[in-house]
Amino acid sequence: MAHTAAYKHYQPNESVARSPSRSEQTARVLAQSEAMCRANGARLTRIRRNVLEVLYTSHKPLGAYELADLLSPGTRRMAPITVYRALDFLIEQGLAHRLASQNAYIATVHGDGGDTCAFLICEECGDVSEATSRDFADTVSGLVSQAGFRPRAKVLEITGRCAHCQGAGRH
Ligand SMILES: [Zn+2]
Repeated sequence: MAHTAAYKHYQPNESVARSPSRSEQTARVLAQSEAMCRANGARLTRIRRNVLEVLYTSHKPLGAYELADLLSPGTRRMAPITVYRALDFLIEQGLAHRLASQNAYIATVHGDGGDTCAFLICEECGDVSEATSRDFADTVSGLVSQAGFRPRAKVLEITGRCAHCQGAGRH
């Protein structure tokens, strides 16, 4: 188990999003995140929690303005600065990541690789998967320490075409 790759798939329009087990999973992730923040002496406030919940349930990276819209349906839009502050907090806590190539944000799921992971970004359908393993994390740590470098984020963004889109292209 320790050496298996953790793999989280963010599939747009996935029907599993409506199943009750999915919302239980979301509740569990939010509770874990809250406990993690508390252990770090930080507080997952209501706004921070809401931003994390929207990121976690969206299955695709979201821009700050998209997030603001999703967080305030039918009412006056939440101020982008409020969203940015919440995102800064979540990134600092290792709960979210900004995908530089997309200028969008995504919730992070820590598997065996801890805070080291690769995001596989499909340029065709926008699907993003998170992949990590203990071996990958060890390799990255080794490279970084050899260079005497102090990393802030250990995240690799790999762009290309997902398996689904490659299959669609074969017809
Ligand atoms: Zn794709």
